[in-house]
Amino acid sequence: MRAAQPRVYLIARPALDHAAMAAYLREVGGERWLEKLDLGQFEAQDLAEYAGKICYRSWAPGLNPNVRKVRDDQDGYLRNILASGHGSVLEHASFTFVLHDVSRIMTHELCRHRPGTATSQESMRFVRLDDIPFWFPDWARDDKALMEYASQLISTLEQFQLWMADRFQLDAEGTSMHERKARTSFMRRFAPDGVATGLVLSANVRALRHVIESRTDPGAEEEIRLVAGRIGELMRAEAPALFGDYTVTDGAWVPGWRKV
Ligand SMILES: Cc1cc2nc3c(=O)[nH]c(=O)nc-3n(C[C@H](O)[C@H](O)[C@H](O)COP(=O)(O)OP(=O)(O)OC[C@H]3O[C@@H](n4cnc5c(N)ncnc54)[C@H](O)[C@@H]3O)c2cc1C
Repeated sequence: MRAAQPRVYLIARPALDHAAMAAYLREVGGERWLEKLDLGQFEAQDLAEYAGKICYRSWAPGLNPNVRKVRDDQDGYLRNILASGHGSVLEHASFTFVLHDVSRIMTHELCRHRPGTATSQESMRFVRLDDIPFWFPDWARDDKALMEYASQLISTLEQFQLWMADRFQLDAEGTSMHERKARTSFMRRFAPDGVATGLVLSANVRALRHVIESRTDPGAEEEIRLVAGRIGELMRAEAPALFGDYTVTDGAWVPGWRKV
């Protein structure tokens, strides 16, 4: 049995085309906005601000005669977006993560989050198990008797996987892909929910805020709490103005503004 540890890698983030943004801004007289940006530093924030400013044409005072004052500091502008619940502008910025060595328990819970997310999960109909990687929380690792029993059980399940692969002749020349897939799918029924697997998750900032809050709640399951907390840490570094309002206490991320 391989001891697994859930990991989160951030693999994609927004990348802005400043020339194209400027082309639009020139047409509406808003170039000043782009000039003040610290280009390339927090692109998700720039994108959210851009999407917000288009709403009132508030690139500069007077471009829209109804707007006499504009907020120039990005932190303050985005804080106001969060505070006023104008969260749809946050949907333009998406991030993509690989979640590696996470259990099917965690992935099943994560997949319940639908708007603003996309998931591609390792297929256990196709990917054959030759071992059963497994994560144990610290409290379980500290229980020697539990670990002995669990390790024995998992080792038996691993041996059964290998036995079935041999029994079904999955590696024989003549075994078709269809047959392999069907048998591999049957074999996964004998893997525990805790088997470590992986997925790619994409989610926009609005969805991420909700996932981080609800899945680090003390009532949430311990593995998803760990993963959602790690996503929170990554996002706070990526976009401090969009994730800086959380207070983190004992792993629970409580936002300054809920349901933006
Ligand atoms: C601590 C905890 C315990 C849980 N226990 C269980 C359980 O025992 N059994 C179980 O089945 N599930 C359970 N869940 C899952 C939970 O019911 C949700 O399915 C999951 O958290 C997804 O979140 P969400 O409903 O906010 O939807 P998301 O898909 O994350 O959507 C975000 C928000 O968009 C809005 N929204 C989304 N879809 C719709 C829609 N169709 N109609 C209207 N508004 C919508 C809602 O405001 C929603 O909060 C649990 C979740 C947590 C955090």
